[in-house]
Amino acid sequence: MNKVIRIEPVPVAAAGQGEVELYEIRRKIYPRAVHGVFARWRVALVIFTQVIFYGLPWLSWNGRQAVLFDLGTRKFYIFGLVFWPQDVIYLTLLLILSALALFLFTAVAGRLWCGYACPQTVYTEIFLWIERKIEGDRLARIRMDAAPMSLEKVVVKGLKHTVWLTIAVWTGYTFVGYFTPIQDLGVRAITWNLGGWEAFWLLFYAFATYGNAGWMREQVCKYMCPYARFQSVMFDKDTLVIAYDTKRGEPRGSRSRKVVPREAGLGDCIDCQICVQVCPTGIDIRKGLQYECIGCAACIDGCDQVMDKMGYPRGLIRYASQNAMAAGAGLAFEWRHLLRFRTVLYTTLLAVVATGAIVGLALKNPLKVDVIRDRGALAREAAPGVIENSYRLHVMNTDERARSFRIDATGLPGLEVVGVEQPVALEAAGARLLPLRLRAPADSAAPGPHAIEIAVRAADDPKVARREKSTFILPR
Ligand code: SF4
Ligand code: SF4
Repeated sequence: MNKVIRIEPVPVAAAGQGEVELYEIRRKIYPRAVHGVFARWRVALVIFTQVIFYGLPWLSWNGRQAVLFDLGTRKFYIFGLVFWPQDVIYLTLLLILSALALFLFTAVAGRLWCGYACPQTVYTEIFLWIERKIEGDRLARIRMDAAPMSLEKVVVKGLKHTVWLTIAVWTGYTFVGYFTPIQDLGVRAITWNLGGWEAFWLLFYAFATYGNAGWMREQVCKYMCPYARFQSVMFDKDTLVIAYDTKRGEPRGSRSRKVVPREAGLGDCIDCQICVQVCPTGIDIRKGLQYECIGCAACIDGCDQVMDKMGYPRGLIRYASQNAMAAGAGLAFEWRHLLRFRTVLYTTLLAVVATGAIVGLALKNPLKVDVIRDRGALAREAAPGVIENSYRLHVMNTDERARSFRIDATGLPGLEVVGVEQPVALEAAGARLLPLRLRAPADSAAPGPHAIEIAVRAADDPKVARREKSTFILPR
């Protein structure tokens, strides 16, 4: 008889595993204010990026907004340059350059973008600064959140949210101001006369700024941003990351300033938790490199302040590669390992693409021409012995000044342009769709299709010219 074996379910906790929670309740983070070299860099970058973002749409150039992405007319104005849909190659080059720059900076120094220039970091920094000014630093904020509701709390919180919302709405307004003339937008916003899409994007961007920088904060970096997940593939052991020097810091422990750490069997870490309290994502860098670390270096500044007070050398937490940390090496080691295969590759590609983009922009022809054959009527006899073909000619003047153009056609004896009043005048950054007719003697060549060229030249500058290929049909 077969023996029945009963398998008793073993509780996971009893097996020493601990239950895995599928949902983690957010623990609100109250980052402590920090001062130091990297905090100054972060503030400088916040000011630099925001002066550009808020200021650029207010600049004028040749009587128009200097930077305007006019989706209605499908023209992008960037100072003296006007980009048309046909210039999509430049957008492609810009995206490639941005990606290569991100790869290079990440390979050299980890999450520099996240720590200093990402809009999420920048706006969180601005919103946190306002929060500190209104509610106070970490302890005051913790106490206020824990306190029961009172008039003072309502007033303080109300003031903070009013300032946050004002900045968020201004940010949304600025964002839309890149796509529609900002001064006109302001007038229409004040008179409640915004278009549907303008109002939608203004409110959407404002809401995203307020929600992400005021409420979501580190959760955007931890759970929503895909870059945090794939950045590790761009790292190697020579990439600079924010690292805690375990050899120097351990064993950690509190002590008085008079104690000599080595004599007391201690490392340099006094276990004060400052590095955790200043961290905007609430992690403990002493546990090693974690994907939540956005590389803001606040823990370096915080720990350096502690080291100064204790009279220990700075740099217990510092920028260091894994290789340098393992070898106990310093800055000279990092410099020697800066040039390696992937950094040389990214730099070379970056230089090649950037040179190509600059040369392309410098040689950019301000004239664009499209020739479209009239498919409805391939060829007709316009007069006895004269054949006429019809086309549509799209002439685009991407220059910042009005020009006149002459149109010629070559490829058959006696081929001539008719039906267009020459020269063709085009306003600055203007375009015209012209019905174009070409005529040639019926006996100028054998019946059938013949390759021809249609040339468009600026009347005042022969270098501004285009030659487009097409066909002329002589019927049998
Ligand atoms: S701030 Fe420095 S000393 Fe204080 S716990 Fe962090 S690593 Fe240790
Ligand atoms: S661990 Fe340090 S560098 Fe990383 S996010 Fe926290 S404070 Fe910034």
